[in-house]
Order: sequence, then structure tokens, then C-alpha cells
Amino acid sequence: MTENPDLSGRVALVTGASRGIGYHLAKQLAAAGAHVIAVARTVGGLEELDDEIKAGGGSATLVPLDLTDMAGIDRLGGSIHERWGKLDILVANAGVLGVIAPIGHVEAKVFDKVMAVNVTGTWRLIRSVDPLLRLSDAGRAIVMSSGAAHSARAFWAPYAASKAAVEALARSWADETKNMALRVNIVDPGATRTAMRAQAMPGENPDTLPLPADVAASMLRLASPSLTYTGRIWNVRKGSWTDYRLPE
Ligand code: NDP
Repeated sequence: MTENPDLSGRVALVTGASRGIGYHLAKQLAAAGAHVIAVARTVGGLEELDDEIKAGGGSATLVPLDLTDMAGIDRLGGSIHERWGKLDILVANAGVLGVIAPIGHVEAKVFDKVMAVNVTGTWRLIRSVDPLLRLSDAGRAIVMSSGAAHSARAFWAPYAASKAAVEALARSWADETKNMALRVNIVDPGATRTAMRAQAMPGENPDTLPLPADVAASMLRLASPSLTYTGRIWNVRKGSWTDYRLPE
């Protein structure tokens, strides 16, 4: 499997592309030749990304969109179909932490928001672009999870539950498509120097954490047309796959 794939002529949709891991992955996908459709709410972050991609000789389409806007997600799939007729790479990366708090102290609106962005928005996006990824000769889907899905640490309940749900969505989708060209995999990036991590661990020295650009570089292989695995978790910290066996 190629570590730095040639993605010339491929179309990649990246959510959460305005900062953090998604920003750097979008930039690296464009540098590898893909046209990047960059989704987030913050227009300034998307424009900064666009400038960097253009400076590197790449191209992007900016889509300011709130992933709780379910009809907007549906329209996005329709627009991609009209313009490109297919999608080669999906990176479902956007996410929110919510709050670190005892389970009984979590406000309902915070819990609902975590589920809306991390779970329902991801499912709606999958539903919107699944037919387009099937039209690609080598569709690749990358779904961002977290070690929290498995560790389920004290005070992380809404986020941990949302990531466990997202992994289940991705694994079911991988099983549904295992006999097709489409490959669906999950990423556990590990603690990374981003705004989300700073919100979760305000007392931590960010200089001790890996940079989002390095985490993104480790994820690039999951977009490669030569990737064979599906339904697995790429653990960035370990640099290895966790094999969840798909049903026979
Ligand atoms: P950041 O907070 O730096 O970035 C999150 C991205 O998601 C932003 O681009 C943000 O864009 C976007 N986003 C959030 N809410 C919405 C929304 N409603 N609609 C559209 N876009 C939205 O986070 P990270 O880069 O750290 O996280 C990226 C992914 O990696 C997440 O799924 C996270 O759970 C996961 N992860 C991160 C870890 C870490 O240590 N950093 C560890 C484990 C997993 P905007 O605000 O402009 O809309």
C-alpha cells in the first residue's frame, strides 16, 4: 500500500476542514493531487485553507455548512453529483467535544448537540454521498473516531457515546459494501494539538502533543486507491490497524 498516494484527478470531501486535523488532511490531499471539497462553518478558516492549497498548486471548493443542517447535507450530495458525477474520498472528520462533566451534570442541549454533529450529521453525510462513492472506481471513506469510544473514561460520556456510535455506523457500512470497490475505515488519531484537545484538557502542555499535520500525514494512506482493508481502525499513535472482523 502506498504511503503517499497519487490522488490526481480524484475528488475528496473533507468535513471539519477549517482547522485542526481536517485542515491539514485537506491540505495534504490537495498536495497529493485531489480536488478538495472543504466543509465547515468558519469561512475564515476555509479561506485560509484555500489560499494554502492554491499556493501549493492544488484546487479546492469551499462549502460553508453547519453539519446540523440535514437538508444542507442532502443538497451537498446533489451538488457533488451534478458537478463531478462521483466522489472518490470522504473524510467525515468534523466533531465536537461537548463538555467534560459527570454524566448527570450534562445539559440536555449539550448532549443533543454532540449527537447531532458527531452522529446524526455523520450518518446523514454517509447517506448523502454513499451512492457517489459507489460510482468511484476506488471510493475511500475515512471516519474519525477517538480512543474515547473504547476507553469510555469518567466524565467523557456524551463524546464517548457519540464516537462509539460513529464506529458502529462505519463498520456496518463497511460490511454492507465489503464486496464493492468502496473501502470504509475508521481513524483513532490519539491526542493531537488542536482546539478540541485544549478544550478537553486545559491544563495540559500542548507542546507535548503531536501536531495535526503529522496526524494527517499518517492518515493519507487510507485515501489511497491501493488500500485493501475495510471496516478497520487505523490507530495513528501506534501506526497500526485494529482488526474488527466483519461478519462472515
Ligand atoms: P477541532 O476542534 O480543531 O476542529 C473541529 C472541526 O470540526 C472544525 O473544522 C470545525 O469547524 C468542525 N465542526 C465542528 N462543528 C461543526 C458543525 N456543526 N458543522 C460543521 N463543521 C463543524 O478538532 P480536531 O481537529 O481535534 O478534531 C477532528 C476530529 O478528530 C474530531 O472528530 C475529533 O473528535 C477527533 N479526535 C481528535 C482528537 C484530538 O486530540 N484532537 C483525539 C481523538 C479524536 P467550524 O467550527 O468552522 O464549523
